[in-house]
Amino acid sequence: MQHKKSYIDARIEKANIDKGIIVLLTGNGKGKSSSALGMTCRALGYGMSISIVKFLKGIQDTGEDIFLAKQPNVQTTLMKTGFTWDTQDKAFDTKMAIKIWSEAEQYLTNQSIDLVVLDELTYMINYKYLDEQKILDVLVNRPKNQHVIITGRAASQNLIKLADTVSEVKDIKHAFRANIKAQKGVDL
Ligand code: ATP
Ligand code: MG
Repeated sequence: MQHKKSYIDARIEKANIDKGIIVLLTGNGKGKSSSALGMTCRALGYGMSISIVKFLKGIQDTGEDIFLAKQPNVQTTLMKTGFTWDTQDKAFDTKMAIKIWSEAEQYLTNQSIDLVVLDELTYMINYKYLDEQKILDVLVNRPKNQHVIITGRAASQNLIKLADTVSEVKDIKHAFRANIKAQKGVDL
């Protein structure tokens, strides 16, 4: 234990770089967006300013949308139109995706925003609604102390390479498969 403690102490001492980081939360299990919202709460605790961009519109507002709407340090941008999985009009959806990305870009070039959450961004890349290279360029050139959290299944190799912290949430079991519907306060 003593040996382990000195090893950890040495590692902590070595970790002396302070910079904005990209956290990427991917995988098929539950817990990606809610983890992003957990970090949002952490940042709020320190009075940091946060912008959240949600790239997929849910069937209804989530509990955190309702809660965060009351927080002065948070602004949320949502897909306002019916951009969901059952889309029938790719041209229209692409236009909407580009529009919402341009709002994300405003945040990612604004020094006064400490944390930007790009919720479900991976789908926009995987299904080619947005140009991956443009996204990577904006992320690389963002203000140097700004943190970014990206969520969504099946993150691309380029996103993984760029991110500083990457976690894959593994699906072992989900209540939905036992016919339990999405529960308020847990799933939405
Ligand atoms: P959460 O928002 O709960 O953290 P998530 O962001 O990891 O979930 P998404 O793929 O964005 O997962 O899906 C959001 C919704 O789908 C939530 O209601 C969540 O409970 C549900 N969900 C997530 N993973 C699964 C799964 N493996 N099977 C069924 N439903 C799932
Ligand atoms: Mg999610």
